[in-house]
Amino acid sequence: MIELENVVKEYPGHRALDGLHLSVPAGCVYGLLGPNGAGKSTTINLVTGLLKPTSGHIRVGGIDAVAEPLRARNILAYVSESVALYPHLTGRENLQLFSRLAGRRLEESESTACLERAGLQADAHGRRIGTYSKGMRQKVGLAIALAKDAKAVVLDEPSSGLDPGASHDLAERVRELASGGLAVLMATHDLFRARDTCDTVGLLVHGTLRAEWKASEVQDHDLDLEAAYLDLVNDSSHQSATSNSVTSKSA
Ligand code: ADP
Ligand code: MG
Repeated sequence: MIELENVVKEYPGHRALDGLHLSVPAGCVYGLLGPNGAGKSTTINLVTGLLKPTSGHIRVGGIDAVAEPLRARNILAYVSESVALYPHLTGRENLQLFSRLAGRRLEESESTACLERAGLQADAHGRRIGTYSKGMRQKVGLAIALAKDAKAVVLDEPSSGLDPGASHDLAERVRELASGGLAVLMATHDLFRARDTCDTVGLLVHGTLRAEWKASEVQDHDLDLEAAYLDLVNDSSHQSATSNSVTSKSA
C-alpha cells in the first residue's frame, strides 16, 4: 500500500535518504526506527507529498505520489507529532471541519462513530481541543484519518511526549486500524512499543535501511531489539561520519 523504491532525497549539501526501499502492505504496521537525523521525518514527508524525492519512486495504493500527489493524498492520512487542530473548536467540530475541507460532510452519528473508533472518550467529543491532552489530540487526528476513509496512515513520532498509558492506548488503536486493513507507517523512538505494535520494524541510519525485522523474528527468537539497534547505530557512526554528505560543487 505504501511503497518506496530506491528513493534518494538530497537537501543542499546533505543526502538525507540514500536509496531507500520500503514497503508497507495493507493491514500492516511498519515501525521506522533510527537516531535523530536518520531521515525518518524526511521519509514520512515524502510519502505525504510534502517533499519531492531527488530520485526514486513513491507509491501509495499504487498511485505515483510524485506524479499525482493529490490523488495519492486522497487515500492517505497524516498524523504529525503535534497534530495541528483548532484549539477553540471541540474535538467533534475539528473532525467535521477537516472532513469538510477534504470534501466530506459528516453526519453527527458518523462523527461520533469515528471519534469512538479512534478511542476518544465520549465526554470529550464536545469539549474544546484547548483542554485536551496530547494523547487526545492524536486521537482526533486518527478520527480525521478514519473519516477520510484513508487506505494508509503515516505517523511521525506519535508517542513522543505521551505517558505510558496514553502511548499504550494509541498503540492499540493503531493495531485496530491495521486490522481493519489500513497500512500504517510510523516513525518512532519507542523500541519497546515498536516491538509490540509493529509487524515489521526497520532501522534507518544515515538515510539507509540498515536492518529490517519481522515481529515474529523479534518475538519468537527473543531478539534483543535494543542491543541490535545500538550495535548497528554505533557501527554506522564509525563507518560513515562523512560518507553521506554530498560533495559540494562550489568547493
Ligand atoms: P529524523 O526525522 O530521522 O530525525 P530528518 O528526516 O528530520 O531525520 O532529517 C534527516 C537529515 O536531513 C538530518 O541530517 C537533517 O538535518 C537533514 N534535514 C532535514 N530537513 C532539512 C532541510 N529542510 N534542509 C536541510 N537539511 C535537512
Ligand atoms: Mg523526525
